[in-house]
Amino acid sequence: MNAYVERVLNDLKKKDAYQPEFLQAVEEVLTSTSIVFDLHPLYEDKAVLERLVEPERMIQFKVPWMDDRGVYHVNRGYRVQYNSALGPYKGGLRFHPSVNLGILKFLGFEQIFKNALTTLPIGGGKGGSDFDPKGKSDEEIMRFCQSFMTELYRHIGPDTDVPAGDMGVGVREVGYLYGHYRRIRGVVEPGVFTGKSLGFGGSLIRKEATGYGLVYFVCEMLKNVGLENAKPRVVVSGSGNVAIYACEKAKQMGWQVIAMSDSKGYIVDEHLDLDVVKHIKEVERGSLALYPEYAGHGEYHEGSVYDASLAYDVALPCATQNEINGERAMNMYNCGCRLVAEGANMPSNKDAVAYYLNHGMLYGPGKAANAGGVATSALEMSQNSMRLSWTSAEVDERLHQIMINIHAQCVDACNKYGLDPTNYMAGANIAGMERVIEAMLAQGDY
Ligand code: NDP
Repeated sequence: MNAYVERVLNDLKKKDAYQPEFLQAVEEVLTSTSIVFDLHPLYEDKAVLERLVEPERMIQFKVPWMDDRGVYHVNRGYRVQYNSALGPYKGGLRFHPSVNLGILKFLGFEQIFKNALTTLPIGGGKGGSDFDPKGKSDEEIMRFCQSFMTELYRHIGPDTDVPAGDMGVGVREVGYLYGHYRRIRGVVEPGVFTGKSLGFGGSLIRKEATGYGLVYFVCEMLKNVGLENAKPRVVVSGSGNVAIYACEKAKQMGWQVIAMSDSKGYIVDEHLDLDVVKHIKEVERGSLALYPEYAGHGEYHEGSVYDASLAYDVALPCATQNEINGERAMNMYNCGCRLVAEGANMPSNKDAVAYYLNHGMLYGPGKAANAGGVATSALEMSQNSMRLSWTSAEVDERLHQIMINIHAQCVDACNKYGLDPTNYMAGANIAGMERVIEAMLAQGDY
């Protein structure tokens, strides 16, 4: 590893020892871009890496709210404004009990390079709360969102910081958050939030974009190795926003999705009925355990789908971080899986990624493969600025082109540095990082 990269990494490990996910993300990016620093020794003099790993600003605040019984609760709210060299901070809000500053720093850091890969003018940020939306009434969710926004509003704006959804934050939550922003600020600024409902400034295809974009990216990966006509058998983990629309596009491509999962278990069904999954998750907000009864076929099992013995070619992890470790990667390989593309952020830990690469599995990292969501968010911002709406076909076509372009950038970066053109991890990190560094240096010493 380059000595400068190693020094910055070691310093960070001392300073942020209590943030394992953040260190994991930084280590992956810095080790895979080490070669860039070998070739640009001047970057060390300009402290480029030290500037890049440090967020521009981190905001933490309390979020008091009252439940339906009149009992008070207090959660922690956060916004990490990581890097604005390319444009306003852009990145989702996550509501999940596991949220802490380290997780949001990891997500914000990843977001910088993902957003750079879209080539759209957006910087990187992330936010959220340790609030658990599960089992809460609609009114409780609304009160929580309003309390969260009562603090957040002063830090965001269409030209400064534009949040969106993530785990636990969908179109309902974005509606409550945006509505309260509009009320407090007294202005109509739809461009301050993306992932809005279609009725007040949302973009067609935004809901579908991350999952659809993931499948478009997989198509490019398959083309890259001469398998463009393949009709793979697919396992999708998760059954939230990203998973559902990845499954929908995979089915439209004529691929067979044989399993999906949630936080408690997974379903296996050779004739998987996505409408039933949508009903359970989007309408009832229930467990996949209901699936066999509602669909009239298929099986439900507790545990991780990646521990199961199934036969499939492609895995699309679309649930959460560190879902796949080395052991699960080996099991996936033994199931026949030869391509993993990440809909979620960092679903594969370090051992899993090493296993994929050492066993010749094609690996599409989240920051490239799931960038379709934020890219379409940027398209939503453009439509809001122009005060017009594009058709589904128009947005979908732009999304498709962006995913093709992201894939091409990964391959080009590999070629530029003499790496294997299917090393998407290095390709994505290098291409994203070069764009951000160039912008930072051109703007002085911030
Ligand atoms: P959702 O909240 O809509 O769905 C999350 C899904 O993951 C649910 O099915 C949930 O199960 C499952 N899940 C949660 N925790 C675990 C766990 N520990 N083990 C297994 N499954 C789990 O989130 P999204 O679909 O929006 O996001 C999923 C991932 O994609 C996240 O990593 C997010 O950061 C990333 N992402 C999202 C984008 C977007 O546009 N939404 C854009 C780019 C990346 P249950 O239903 O039981 O809660």
